[in-house]
Amino acid sequence: MDDERYACTQYPEVAEAELRNLCGFLSNIAQNVDLERFSEALILFVQAETGRITDANAIACELLGYSSTEIREKLITDIEVAPQSGEQAIRRYVETAIEMDVYECLYRQGDGGTFPVRVRRQAITRDGNSLIHYLIEDRSIRHYVWKELIRREDRDFAFRERMKALNEVNTSLGTAETLDDLCRKAVLLGKERLGFDRLGLWLFDTQSALMKGTYGVDEHGELRDEHHSSWGISDSLIVDFTTGHKTPIVSTDVAPIYDSQSHIIGYGWHLSAPMHHEDQFIGYVSADNFLSGQPMRNYQPELLRSYAAAVGQYCAHHLARESAKRLAEDMRSQEKRIQMLGTFISHIGHDFRTPLTVINTSAYLLSRSNDPARKAELAARIEGQVDYINRVVHEMLTAVSLEEPSEFSFQWTSLRALINSAVESVTNLATEKGLRWTYEVPPPTVLAADQVQLERAIREILHNAIIFTNAGGHITVSTEVDEKHITIRVNDTGIGIAAGEQEKIFQHLYRVDQARTTQGVGLGLTLAKRIVEAHGGFIRVASTPDVGSTFEIVLPLEADIGPNATYKGNQK
Ligand code: ADP
Repeated sequence: MDDERYACTQYPEVAEAELRNLCGFLSNIAQNVDLERFSEALILFVQAETGRITDANAIACELLGYSSTEIREKLITDIEVAPQSGEQAIRRYVETAIEMDVYECLYRQGDGGTFPVRVRRQAITRDGNSLIHYLIEDRSIRHYVWKELIRREDRDFAFRERMKALNEVNTSLGTAETLDDLCRKAVLLGKERLGFDRLGLWLFDTQSALMKGTYGVDEHGELRDEHHSSWGISDSLIVDFTTGHKTPIVSTDVAPIYDSQSHIIGYGWHLSAPMHHEDQFIGYVSADNFLSGQPMRNYQPELLRSYAAAVGQYCAHHLARESAKRLAEDMRSQEKRIQMLGTFISHIGHDFRTPLTVINTSAYLLSRSNDPARKAELAARIEGQVDYINRVVHEMLTAVSLEEPSEFSFQWTSLRALINSAVESVTNLATEKGLRWTYEVPPPTVLAADQVQLERAIREILHNAIIFTNAGGHITVSTEVDEKHITIRVNDTGIGIAAGEQEKIFQHLYRVDQARTTQGVGLGLTLAKRIVEAHGGFIRVASTPDVGSTFEIVLPLEADIGPNATYKGNQK
């Protein structure tokens, strides 16, 4: 009895009526009748004693062809044609004290037509009246057509739902604070809310003419960072996008699907939709079906196109914002450099007075002296002062240039190699000065750094420790790495720095020893501070006069060093 073809096979004599029903039903659908309604069962309430219908739901009225008033004038026997297969068709269900008759029969409509149904009939009491509740399931061809339509409607419904989700996703994308955040969100929401299996978002870098990865979804369905990947566009399909092609590219089941190492892990359906801002190509969103292995749904290219268009608008907004920010930063760094130059120029008058006087007097004496030894001594004195001036000028210019962010080029760098190299460059000086030395070799960690500059910062601090520690003193270099930070520590048993001076030593040209008895320029710590800050870190000092000082460079372990970085150093 549960055979899906029940209606058509068992009751050939009702075929004509069924056909009529079906036509009526289809014409209803053509008038956009709500399909959901047809999913309901027909319900009738019948008076137990008289067999008169007391109530019917809307779908029962509609399918039986009576108004709700008309149907109340009917007896159930006017409607229910005797069960076709006789009494045997009635099955009695006794489920948890509910007794129910279940049977198949034909129901007669107002115009004389019939259609097959399955009935569940049960005695109930309502408002003190004994009633029979009829729960009737339409079993006609119309019903199967309805089922198929609902199935299709469901598919469209999925699309409508996705479009609705697209609107909501758009709103969430609007809350992204940075371009990177936006790309991450776009990939995640595209997967979670728009039903794409896997997505990737690529941005076009106009300067390098490269497509650059942002985020994607890996072969296990997890978000994957793809900033490390980039590729040229000249020999790919994407070139169409760069020339203004705006419709998604749909590859059928032969498109290669890659893992995070760019190895092909399979072939499948693949979609790419471009992001444009005005007529400029700014990137594209791609999607594949690797996880489900299913062909793309018909609506997915269009959905991805709409999504890419929306994401593109937000990307363009962030790109503009970031370039405005860069411009403002440039302006700020220019201002700072001009300010620094002003400070230096005003210092030059003071700082160069002594060496220039020495040069002047020495040159004068040199011109008058005939003693070769004396002449050599004077020449060496002039040379020494010129050296000093050179050093000051060089350091000043370096300090000014380091205000420019583009002076830094970050790469994955070995911490150990970096510190080894800085230590090696000063050990001779320490030995010459008769200092003892403890060096704890750092753990094999990599960090995002401008190797040359960061080594310079460490060297400045080591150099100071040597200069300001007397013979017999001790210098200790150690490194600590925790989950978030790297701390490079240089401890000396030198002359120390008074509490009031500890802040000032990081200022331009500031030296505790104002009498300039040491050869320093007063820029070493300024440079070190600037370099460490450009790495997202900071320098701190703890010092006690006549006991010693500890300088610490604290660096973040996970710095964002941009999409171009590759690890070039050696881990060991
Ligand atoms: P300089 O070229 O004079 O070394 P820096 O900017 O490197 O300039 O240092 C500024 C001043 O900080 C130094 O002149 C010195 O007075 C003080 N200083 C720096 N490091 C130490 C140290 N380890 N011990 C004592 N004083 C120090």
